[in-house]
Amino acid sequence: MLANLRGAVLPLSRAMASGRAMSETEGASATLIQSTRKGFARDLSVGSINYMACPELIRNLGLGDRFDAHRFRMLHPDGKHLIAHWFERAWSKRGCASEESFEPFIFCWIALNGWAACCTELDQDRQWLDALIESPEVRRRFETLLEGSEEIRQIAERFRSYWPVFKAQELRRLGALAYWHGDRPQTIDHYLRAGARQLSPDCWLRHHAAHEDVPLDFPHTAVALYRVRCNLFHGDKAPHSEVDRILVSTSFRLLAEFLNSWDLLR
Ligand SMILES: [Zn+2]
Repeated sequence: MLANLRGAVLPLSRAMASGRAMSETEGASATLIQSTRKGFARDLSVGSINYMACPELIRNLGLGDRFDAHRFRMLHPDGKHLIAHWFERAWSKRGCASEESFEPFIFCWIALNGWAACCTELDQDRQWLDALIESPEVRRRFETLLEGSEEIRQIAERFRSYWPVFKAQELRRLGALAYWHGDRPQTIDHYLRAGARQLSPDCWLRHHAAHEDVPLDFPHTAVALYRVRCNLFHGDKAPHSEVDRILVSTSFRLLAEFLNSWDLLR
């Protein structure tokens, strides 16, 4: 089933490339300044917004002005209906039990893929993801979402408590992939001792070494969600820690609430 869904995403995102021509970013042009603070933060300043993002999280720099939410509103009704349909299938399951959240998470991701490809006019996953990560508007929307609901903040914090999310393929190659019923810190320690280094958020090791919390913002959350998505889409015969039901259900709820904040069903 996953392979079929995966195949459906690509034509969908290509079909989304027909939005109106890219407009100016709301009210200001973006400037990129390499910050000197500790040498590892980038300052993406747009107007009065000061946006610091860990550089490890961004693969494609300079896409911060590609996101334009208006493109989705201008999309052809058939394309809009298709994306809304995937999202509705996910949104209707937001109260489901954690063990039933795998399928709605994938439906949600398909909706995200179509919506983001439309709003950025970028087809490749890491490109539209980076465009969202670098967008001050997207980051602000996520912050507002967490500030406006204690329930959603708690879901986000629970999701963060599982970070980092490891790349299951690397764990398998290391012979370390496990279904861990113990606590998450014990699982993380097990994987790090086995030599795992492909993990999300990518800056987690640096934050951890500095004894600081990983910021609960959109850039860090987005790359962790993408890792969950990749682990699910690449599939394994047996369940394992990196597609743990709590990890997937918190991912699903958070992603669904984020997409809902953009009125995809309107
Ligand atoms: Zn970071």
